[in-house]
Amino acid sequence: MKKVHVFNAGPCLLPQVAIDNAIEALKDFKGTGVSVLSISHRTKEWDETMDECRALWKELLHIPETHEVVFLGGGASLQFLYVAMNYLEKKAAYLETGVWAGKALKEAKGIGEAYAIASSKDRNFCYIPKGFEIPTDIDYLHITTNNTIYGTEIKEDMDCPVPLIADMSSDIMSRPVDVSKYDLIYGGAQKNVGPAGVIFAIIRKDSLGRVSRYIPTMLDYRTHIDKLSMFNTPPVFSIFVMNETLKWIKSIGGVEAIHKINVEKARILYEEIDRNSLFVGTADVEDRSCMNVCFVMAPGKEELQDSFLAFAKERGMVGIKGHRSVGGFRASIYNACTVEDVEALIACMKEFENLHA
Ligand SMILES: *Cc1c(COP(=O)(O)O)cnc(C)c1O
Repeated sequence: MKKVHVFNAGPCLLPQVAIDNAIEALKDFKGTGVSVLSISHRTKEWDETMDECRALWKELLHIPETHEVVFLGGGASLQFLYVAMNYLEKKAAYLETGVWAGKALKEAKGIGEAYAIASSKDRNFCYIPKGFEIPTDIDYLHITTNNTIYGTEIKEDMDCPVPLIADMSSDIMSRPVDVSKYDLIYGGAQKNVGPAGVIFAIIRKDSLGRVSRYIPTMLDYRTHIDKLSMFNTPPVFSIFVMNETLKWIKSIGGVEAIHKINVEKARILYEEIDRNSLFVGTADVEDRSCMNVCFVMAPGKEELQDSFLAFAKERGMVGIKGHRSVGGFRASIYNACTVEDVEALIACMKEFENLHA
């Protein structure tokens, strides 16, 4: 197979061991003689995988007894609606830090009263708004901890006087999180913990049941907590691969260990962006994401953009083209991306500088 370095924003790179075990399970799930694609989700063997996956989530993120984790389909985008359905009674506030945050807000507006408490739209979402006052009469504050498109991140769990809800699609399991500070944490698995097709939601159990509306059965988190994510057919294969990915995280020392590696990967890449005369970072330094590193050609060097993309591609770099709303480049350096992958990109940037500076 061609040797490449994958920096895709999502679906993300997954650890090789998860892929190898998935290949095995596609042929024969746990010695049953049945492919994981055909295994009934009402078997003991599947129950074990489901239980293991739930237990790993709890162990790796130190999820307290007050919270439960569920796995569902529909993508993080459907969670935008779940949030409003399950939590919005009178009024909700959203921190507008990008397109995803904006889409979450839009869904809430369709259900009730919701507004942007602060926004970084004025500078194309290149920073995290700070110093805003959180009113105490709102049902919840919704934040997006990592802004995948713009490369900004809220790296600390904030103290919030009202229930805090977070979309952690693209930084879940990348750093330790104090789950007790959140009523709900959700996201799509495909940015850091698995393939597309499954979402996770970590829910404070006693935060539910406070809205007066009728919640359709499938959109009610209580349904899925009660039925242990098996109210209907779960996304079996996606959960299988997510479980293998979590086993890998555990095997290398858990979230605390992987966080150290993530910080180091981001540090060396930003250091190169700041040093290299051909490139500049797009996010404000203090808000730079550890997961999505966004940069563009330095002023006056813009005409080299396509040439760098071709140069990098030639050297095996995959997925470094920036999102169309930011332009330039984006290297997504999720958990499974290694220090060696990042070093290869850095070497490529240095080499390009030697040719063009
Ligand atoms: C990708 C992404 C989403 C949307 O995820 P889907 O599963 O494709 O709906 C939502 N929020 C964030 C922060 C994302 O990065």
